[in-house]
Amino acid sequence: MSAGIMTPPGIQLPDGYVGGVWNLVKAKNPAEPEFHQAVQEVFDSLRPVLAKHPEFRAARILERIVEPERVLMFRVPWQDDQRNIHVNRGFRIEMNSAIGPYKGGLRFHASVTLGILKFLAFEQVFKNSLTTLPMGGGKGGSDFDPKGKSDEEVMRFCQSFMTELWRHIGADTDVPAGDIGVGGREIGFLFGQYKRLANKFTGVLTGKGLNWGGSLIRPEATGYGCVYFASEMLKTRKETFEGKVCLVSGSGNVSQYTIEKLFDLGAKPVTLSDSDGVIYDPDGIDREKLAWVIELKNSRRGRIREYADHFKKAIFMPTDVKLEHNPLWNIKADCAFPSATQNEITAKDAANLIKNGVKLVAEGANMPSTLEATRMFLEAGILYGPAKAANAGGVATSGLEMAQNSARLTWTREEVDDRLHKIMIAIHKNCYETAETYGTPGNLVNGANIAGFLKVANAMLDQGLV
Ligand code: NAP
Repeated sequence: MSAGIMTPPGIQLPDGYVGGVWNLVKAKNPAEPEFHQAVQEVFDSLRPVLAKHPEFRAARILERIVEPERVLMFRVPWQDDQRNIHVNRGFRIEMNSAIGPYKGGLRFHASVTLGILKFLAFEQVFKNSLTTLPMGGGKGGSDFDPKGKSDEEVMRFCQSFMTELWRHIGADTDVPAGDIGVGGREIGFLFGQYKRLANKFTGVLTGKGLNWGGSLIRPEATGYGCVYFASEMLKTRKETFEGKVCLVSGSGNVSQYTIEKLFDLGAKPVTLSDSDGVIYDPDGIDREKLAWVIELKNSRRGRIREYADHFKKAIFMPTDVKLEHNPLWNIKADCAFPSATQNEITAKDAANLIKNGVKLVAEGANMPSTLEATRMFLEAGILYGPAKAANAGGVATSGLEMAQNSARLTWTREEVDDRLHKIMIAIHKNCYETAETYGTPGNLVNGANIAGFLKVANAMLDQGLV
């Protein structure tokens, strides 16, 4: 047992500790439904842990773990190409530094709010703990929408954003990376401005370009890692990806490299999407088609509907906000890889997937399944890989980028890929075994939440009341 704060003699902790803290979270963080959802899922898993470890209750670990160590919120003014002035809101949530510097991406998307970033930062704490690497949890971003903006506009926005953020981050303090709307272009602009202001060339961001401190395999890492994790899941049922039809949502960074690793392993990915709709290619998305998509999305910054104009056998299904479900999840397939955004799989979508015989769901996106959908997957007994375990390969490889930056070295593609693969195998083993230890074999939601929590909570006990 870790050293730390013990219950003061004579003080009785209230009954229903988890329920009490859960009520507090809702009362203290109104209008943040995604944050409530992320906390509820973790708290549900932790009941047996708290029963077994009274020291966590005594040290009020739950009250402390849901409270960010620091929240930064700031004005980001910038000018567009017509010299109109815009004001966006910037954020950085420094959630928990018990096991290492804050680490987690920046998201630029019109839907970004404080509550969304708090859910992401909370998830990140447990995910980073699972990676086996010394990284705390953080997340940040802005309600700025890069879609339709020129490169110059994106650069001016990034420079304004970093003009405030730079004073709060550092290679040993807080190391942001990319997320939705923040890819190589944005990281470049952000890094350039950091370097100018701080007068330091350090590993303060990850996802950097290969010529200036980036790591090989970092762009591929989340997608590859998710498929490596899913392979371990399949192995528990003595299955492989050979010949499996796979649904992938989104068409950004995570989706692109999920598709690549899937066809490398003999599977047949058949879908992609963006906020305008879904493409379904019954012939499968192969290497040549993927190269076309990468050019469309990362260079031309076009919309996925163009895929169906170019590849004639594919069909495009536009987004219909009146529909209660996403047609992508109603296509018959063996495996599903939600890789776009939070809550993209509703109860209706989960019902469709289960009805069509899906065997495996592995989450590339963060919290893509609603609580109801998660419950349905677990009850149906399919293989279900929750985001904080399945998509941890991205941040794990960011950790490897930090290690290379500290050592002033670069590792080969094979070396980074091999380390990523081993980390994903280790995460699966840890989640699988922890689920068994705590009496819910096969439930990787409990396994991930409990294993991620234990390391952070023990570190918090060791470090006293901070
Ligand atoms: P990305 O490259 O910006 O791609 C995001 C994709 O999701 C785009 O196709 C986008 O379509 C779609 N999308 C985003 N918000 C949407 C919304 N509200 N409704 C419908 N579609 C939406 O981002 P990414 O890095 O691939 O991230 C995708 C997911 O993976 C996110 O949940 C992210 O948090 C998670 N993740 C990413 C990493 C990483 O290393 N990048 C690591 C772990 C987890 P539009 O272009 O139409 O918006």
